[in-house]
Amino acid sequence: MSSFVLVVNTGSSSLKYSLVDGASGDSPASGSVERIGESSGRLSHEVDGQEHVEERAFPDHDSALRAALDAFAAYGPSLDSAGVVAVGHRVVHGGERFSAPALVDDDVIGAVEALVPLAPLHNPANLEGIAVARKLFPDLPQVAVFDTAYHHTMPPAAYTYAVPLAWRDEHAIRRYGFHGTSNAYVARSAAAALGRAPEEVDVIVLHLGNGASATAVRGGRSVDTSMGMTPLEGLVMGTRSGDVDPALHAHLHRSLGWSLDDIDTALNRSSGLKGLAGDNDFREVMRLRAAGDAGAALAFDVYSYRIRKYVGAYYAVLGTVDAVVFTAGVGEHSPEVRAASLSGLSRLGISVDPDRNAGPVDGPTFISPDSADVAVLVVPTDEEYEIARQALSLVEEGRQARHETP
Ligand code: ADP
Repeated sequence: MSSFVLVVNTGSSSLKYSLVDGASGDSPASGSVERIGESSGRLSHEVDGQEHVEERAFPDHDSALRAALDAFAAYGPSLDSAGVVAVGHRVVHGGERFSAPALVDDDVIGAVEALVPLAPLHNPANLEGIAVARKLFPDLPQVAVFDTAYHHTMPPAAYTYAVPLAWRDEHAIRRYGFHGTSNAYVARSAAAALGRAPEEVDVIVLHLGNGASATAVRGGRSVDTSMGMTPLEGLVMGTRSGDVDPALHAHLHRSLGWSLDDIDTALNRSSGLKGLAGDNDFREVMRLRAAGDAGAALAFDVYSYRIRKYVGAYYAVLGTVDAVVFTAGVGEHSPEVRAASLSGLSRLGISVDPDRNAGPVDGPTFISPDSADVAVLVVPTDEEYEIARQALSLVEEGRQARHETP
């Protein structure tokens, strides 16, 4: 029986896809369709290290997924020969209901729709991807894998905002956390690199991509994370501010007359590195900083300082820490951020070896000295593999349950 899953990650104007073996993580092909709905779009399909590009209009997500399937037929590998067993969908917000992946049916779709107010930018696009894939693969199980699910193990003290009961009870106002699939993969890989079972290790995961979050993981389970009800809270990100005084909204509204939508958009789209340095691409921030740009230098300092603050907080949350783990674009590629954000923590047993930190990252890589109490690791994340793994295990559980039913 094949273990291939077609992993689909749909954004409002993009669709990323990968064919992934949910058992081994091997991915023979992947691709993306960008600028869906615009007058000219771009499909890129990678197979055997070769990229095939098609530039044309993709009016909607339906035409984008059809084009992806055509790309598999034209450039390979054949999906029929691979024997795909499920389509795995990334869904950003699973709210209070979804603590695990779910087999998509009308009830699940209704529940994801009901969560749109909590993730107005993400869940509608994810639903669009599910609708299109259901139409094109009517006979395959569709599995929704939620970014929030991994954080369901947070205790009430960590997820509760100190706000009136009615907000919490009637409007599901609480912290949810995101980046769960990445965290699950990275925490498990870190435990394997330490040669221990995931249930035995306590780690702080620093996922530093365009979005960024810190997560405290005790025995393989999330116990606190820096993103909250939405992905705006916590660390400094590419275009998001992370933590600000919640009174900022009211102040800007009252004193400048800005609408709440304007403020929300500014905090999500033109803050973070972009607000501080004028660019959300970390490589560009580093180039500007090296050229003596004061805004870029401050951006780097604010970015790294915020990470250090969360490392300290989560050290206190966990009590003991076996490893601090960096992942995603910045975490995997910026030795400068890794060194700066963990500087001055040797009393906590955390230090970074400069040579190891400057060396290449190929799979899970230790960058702490051998003598350190706390391991510091870089682990390249693989969200597609995690989605495929979870989708496959749900489908296999279903299969087993059917066979066991008398
Ligand atoms: P996403 O959250 O969109 O998946 P990624 O994990 O790809 O994002 O991270 C994107 C970020 O990683 C960008 O800010 C990019 O500049 C940064 N990045 C990528 N490569 C490097 C590099 N070699 N050095 C520093 N930063 C990098």
